[in-house]
Amino acid sequence: MSADRERAQRLAGQLHHLRTVARALPDALVLMDGAGRLAWCNPAAGPLLGLTWPADRGARVGQGEGAAALAAWLAAGAPESDEIASPVDTEVRLQLLLLPYGDACRLLLARDVSRVTRLEQVRRDFVANVSHELRTPLTVIHGYLELLDPKDVPALAPVLGEMRTQSERMRQIVEDLLTLSHLEMQHSLPQERIAMTAQLDSLRREAEALSQGHHRVTLEDGAAFDLLGSPKELHSAFSNLVSNAVRYTPAGGTIAIRWKRTAAGAEYSVVDSGYGIPAEHLPRLTERFYRVSSSRSRAKGGTGLGLSIVKHVLSLHGAELRIESTLGKGSTFTCVFQPERLLPRSVKNDGMTSLRAGDGRRRRP
Ligand code: ADP
Repeated sequence: MSADRERAQRLAGQLHHLRTVARALPDALVLMDGAGRLAWCNPAAGPLLGLTWPADRGARVGQGEGAAALAAWLAAGAPESDEIASPVDTEVRLQLLLLPYGDACRLLLARDVSRVTRLEQVRRDFVANVSHELRTPLTVIHGYLELLDPKDVPALAPVLGEMRTQSERMRQIVEDLLTLSHLEMQHSLPQERIAMTAQLDSLRREAEALSQGHHRVTLEDGAAFDLLGSPKELHSAFSNLVSNAVRYTPAGGTIAIRWKRTAAGAEYSVVDSGYGIPAEHLPRLTERFYRVSSSRSRAKGGTGLGLSIVKHVLSLHGAELRIESTLGKGSTFTCVFQPERLLPRSVKNDGMTSLRAGDGRRRRP
């Protein structure tokens, strides 16, 4: 046998072996040519994507009945984190991945993630239902506790005070869990112009009220732009960062609220001169109930859900949370917005204000 024939046989054997492996895969594997036509697919592509080899050879991928979601995903440039309903069965959720190879060819991978999606939905529903069910009894208990006057039963005054604190804490946890559940169910939020001059002014006043005169609060409004987004949710996120800065900065410290234009968009930051956070905790801070120090968080009236809410709100606005901190020196929490979110302000306001704190109390919106 000539060397060429031997090589051809070896290659054919390897190709056969590769296809056998691909056939055994539970994930759909689809090879597409430069024009998006089917060049080959494994058997799993049948039940998952409705494509069969060799019957569909040369057919355009993403065409045919039920394939609108797949076509839209391909047309949108195949965003990585997307999940779509299977063109064969809408109950089946597929996670897709598109990889370029060779000369303009593409490899489409589809995995059935229905079970994980269902479990995630069960978890979300459970948290939402439990929080909702707890809300009414807690409101009743809280209401009665408010009615009881410690002066009527001086011996029970300390107990009553503790009961009020704890019931308020529970109420706050339930409210934050409901906020998170609500955010998780959203795919997008209403988009309105957020007048940043008024927004920043309100945040500064909140900081002052929470601080009760214990910190120096400054506002630097250096971006002549308003934001496009959901006023309620963004205010909640911005306000959470302000509340954290006040709660985790000892008396006498400074808190700066900043809004500035950058080359890549705009940034809203809250900078404090507080306790700071050890570097190893930074990647986990936005997880639910994650706290650097549970006792300090509790003592400060925290629920451990604030930054999780902030992260969800920002992701619904295509924005990111950046956290920088030095232990013992302070922290900077920055919301990074893309330029598409910016609207020129009708009245330009580049001024800087520096104010001392007034009085008030902590509030999670
Ligand atoms: P909490 O309600 O406990 O404040 P968050 O989700 O808002 O929950 O924050 C999570 C944890 O991150 C806090 O418990 C605290 O340990 C830490 N943290 C948040 N903001 C700051 C800050 N500005 N300075 C220092 N630590 C902070």
